[in-house]
Amino acid sequence: MNTSADIIIIGAGIAGASLANELSSNHSVILLEAETQPGYHSTGRSAAVFLPTSGPGLILSLVHASGDFFHNTPQGFCEHPLLSPRTTMMIAKSGDDEHFDLGLSNGMQEISTTQALEKVPAINTQNYTKFSIDPQTFDIDVDALLAAHIKRLKKNAGQLVTNAQVIKLGHHNNLWTVTTKQQEFNAPIIVNAAGAWADHVAELAGLKALSIQPKRRSAALIDVSDKWDVSHWPFVIAAGDRFYFRPIGKKLMISPADQTPVEPHDAWADDMALAHAMEDFQQATGFEVTHLEHTWAGLRSFAPDEHPVIGFDPRAKGFFWLAGQGGYGIETSPAISRIASAFIAQQNIPADIKALGIEQSSLHPERFIS
Ligand SMILES: Cc1cc2nc3c(=O)[nH]c(=O)nc-3n(C[C@H](O)[C@H](O)[C@H](O)COP(=O)(O)OP(=O)(O)OC[C@H]3O[C@@H](n4cnc5c(N)ncnc54)[C@H](O)[C@@H]3O)c2cc1C
Repeated sequence: MNTSADIIIIGAGIAGASLANELSSNHSVILLEAETQPGYHSTGRSAAVFLPTSGPGLILSLVHASGDFFHNTPQGFCEHPLLSPRTTMMIAKSGDDEHFDLGLSNGMQEISTTQALEKVPAINTQNYTKFSIDPQTFDIDVDALLAAHIKRLKKNAGQLVTNAQVIKLGHHNNLWTVTTKQQEFNAPIIVNAAGAWADHVAELAGLKALSIQPKRRSAALIDVSDKWDVSHWPFVIAAGDRFYFRPIGKKLMISPADQTPVEPHDAWADDMALAHAMEDFQQATGFEVTHLEHTWAGLRSFAPDEHPVIGFDPRAKGFFWLAGQGGYGIETSPAISRIASAFIAQQNIPADIKALGIEQSSLHPERFIS
């Protein structure tokens, strides 16, 4: 095993893995992951949707900038298409007009109650009276995406080292020493792609944290197969992100869309939040949930302005941030990894992404450093 490289990336979620692949064609790269497998934390717990009509403006631009990769995945990247169609449907009650209209202004199309019932026959149209869809949304095969990045990293002679929690960082003579429980690694450039632990990794390097806040999001899987075949149902969001549900095979994932600030940890579901979501689901469909097959939670990590943080830290030579992707880190990963790769090469944002109005200053960590 090599312990020296041009670039060491800390964290093998989608952020670290996609950048590792991107960089490995012309750099030596070591990707260090604390857990026994890549994608164990947020990346492996997402709702896995590609949703170009939901999120703040900058995120929407990053999603659009990622669309080409997902729709026209480079030949040989993986064996199957990464996207499969999954319409998104917003359901709204009286009083939800502001959120409903925001969806329309982001490109959702209003549909009639009859059309909504054709998509989800279970909807209680006494409680929910307005509906819109985005037919251009998709499920992302996150496992295949992550596996393909790792495979290509290895093909390019890059290394993934699991069970490698970074516990110490030192910097001397323009070289970082990265200490894990087992080993030491060296590189002139290190990338902080540690997700919810991004601030913690910065602190290991002696840097003041940037206040990247992990927020818990809970989810549960329920079995409704006795009553409905849900496999073709859309991804259903209650206006204002009150809760959402989506098919996973023949079952339904339901999330309260909670976003509770927490310390970084191996997250588990918030029972109270799930109980509220089950009530909301019952009001929306009439289905009384008596049993949760499986529950889980993941951490969505946000910078104070809720934009990703991508760039070299001006306080420490060779320390690069790749963090704060919030609830959008999978669908934006193609664009974000290209931007990060360009910044590491001291280049500007790739022209096609810049043309969508994305500026370096909105992403750079400098915006939080006085
Ligand atoms: C319930 C839920 C639904 C979501 N739905 C969507 C969605 O539909 N679409 C979408 O695009 N996004 C979605 N997201 C958001 C998305 O999952 C995240 O933005 C994305 O996974 C973040 O990737 P990451 O690589 O930054 O973090 P992670 O996947 O958490 O990876 C960070 C890695 O760093 C490792 N690490 C931390 N500290 C160290 C250390 N000291 N040494 C070594 N390794 C370390 C961790 O073990 C971890 O594996 C959702 C998130 C949740 C929780």
